[in-house]
Amino acid sequence: MLSGSGSSVMWFRKGLRIHDNPALQLASQGASHLYPLFVVDPHYMEPDPTSFSPGSSRAGLNRIKFLLESLVDLDLSLKNLGSRLLVLKGDPAEVLIRCLKEQWNVRKLCFEYDTEPYYQALDTKVKNFALGAGIEVFSPVSHTLFNPTEIIERNGGKPPLTYQSFTKIAGQPPPPLTITHSSLPPIGILGSCDISEVPTIEDLGYGDAKQDEFSPFKGGESEALKRLAECMKDKAWVATFEKPKGNPSAFLKPATTVLSPYLKFGCLSSRYFYRQIQDVYETMPKHTSPPVSLLGQLLWRDFFYTVAFGTPNFDRMKDNKICKQIPWKDDDKLLEAWRDGRTGFPWIDAIMVQLRQWGWMHHLARHCVACFLTRGDLFVHWERGRDVFERLLIDADWAINNGNWLWLSCSSFFYQYNRIYSPTSFGKKYDPNGDYIRHFLPVLKDMPRQYIYEPWSAPLSIQTKANCIIGKDYPKPVVLHDSASKECKRKMGEAYALSKELDGVVNEDDLKILRRKLDEGKEQETKAKRSRNTSGLA
Ligand code: FAD
Repeated sequence: MLSGSGSSVMWFRKGLRIHDNPALQLASQGASHLYPLFVVDPHYMEPDPTSFSPGSSRAGLNRIKFLLESLVDLDLSLKNLGSRLLVLKGDPAEVLIRCLKEQWNVRKLCFEYDTEPYYQALDTKVKNFALGAGIEVFSPVSHTLFNPTEIIERNGGKPPLTYQSFTKIAGQPPPPLTITHSSLPPIGILGSCDISEVPTIEDLGYGDAKQDEFSPFKGGESEALKRLAECMKDKAWVATFEKPKGNPSAFLKPATTVLSPYLKFGCLSSRYFYRQIQDVYETMPKHTSPPVSLLGQLLWRDFFYTVAFGTPNFDRMKDNKICKQIPWKDDDKLLEAWRDGRTGFPWIDAIMVQLRQWGWMHHLARHCVACFLTRGDLFVHWERGRDVFERLLIDADWAINNGNWLWLSCSSFFYQYNRIYSPTSFGKKYDPNGDYIRHFLPVLKDMPRQYIYEPWSAPLSIQTKANCIIGKDYPKPVVLHDSASKECKRKMGEAYALSKELDGVVNEDDLKILRRKLDEGKEQETKAKRSRNTSGLA
């Protein structure tokens, strides 16, 4: 099936790597010529000056830059193998179909399978055209450890909704490919396709963007493998890794691997990462286990991918069967204060500044700000926070981001809404001097240690000495934490009670009807009480 001459197209989207890349292997096998393509999608890459941060309408500049760096690295690796990356621009489906119509004699089209709704729709279009044109399509699963479709099938057609049931069904993932390419088939004639080199950030129209807004993490497979090797070298660290025990305020040397952006773009294969951890475990028989171990983190990733793939409307509250219906607020002012690091709570604001500047924060730091925005203090809709993360994170990932927002807002997976993160004392446990805050919020750098987490409580003389007057140089708190969190818990309790009654009711219209019914019920009861009282009955 795979032999016989003819050209192949290798369509890179994620999976921006040479190692453990089944689609690339299939594309190169038996091909006379190989066309490695990447399509710059204007929808994703074109500057949008109306957005709240530099970047396109979909992605912040840090992530766009990370992607370009990953493409440059991939191009270099392909060049070392006698090939190169052919970059095209436009609507990906249209561009792909145009290329397949070229005189390239294409027999095979290969690309990594993707479970995201955006790619599912795109791939159907391209696949239909290719099959109609007699081109074989290969779309292997290699972004995740497991094939989500298979797991769902093995679970009776539904995604497993707990980590434990997921791991039981999943078993061991397939090993990574061990093949190393010494060369790739050459590129054939290019014809009339408008092909370019990997664009620079300036080519895309971001020339004016300030350099200091860029993340310290550089994209690309080479960087990913270097980072992975560095992490794996410290075997004791790998063997004792235990989440959530790390320090969320460690920023000079983060407490976790920071491999998420590389996994997101597929610069790093999750199966290869998994195998490397297993190799360490073989030499360190005493090691932590899932869900807290490093291996367990990769399983969390696959867990969310599987649930996301098997749950209609996973990315919203409406019509999402696994999402609690909660009457969140749509308060733009509170959302913007949170998004822009102006809540007046230094721990929360520093994390949000790290998000904007670095596009990455520690897992527990993400917990704190997500909890604060939703069920902890502000009661703003998790979808609004999700959107901010989706734009600014360099590791923004549709399945994982939505899954974790559902979790943190107690909308799904986790339901202990009485357990909230204090925006003042949680960070203090790890970083009593507030070094993290001083770094990301330099306006507070001279605030004495005892006030750094609650600067509004510092006497005016101290604020003056620290060159930071609260309410002028740094905002006053947007809410009083004690009363705000109490009110949030009360509303969560109410929504949970309603959802018990609901049982199967999943959309907002049904919820409204039910609320009306409950209100009517209450009214009836009040009326009944009143008439009992006036009639002298107990
Ligand atoms: P490590 O601890 O070194 O873990 C290794 C890998 O395991 C990570 O790179 C990641 O791929 C995976 N992993 C770890 N924790 C989780 C988790 N809770 N869920 C799923 N996979 C996990 N992670 C993303 O990759 N993209 C997102 O868009 C994203 N959004 C999040 C939003 C919220 C509100 C929260 C609370 C968490 C989010 N996470 C997201 C999960 C987690 O915070 C990051 O994966 C992790 O902090 C990345 O750092 P690391 O690579 O050093 O992780």
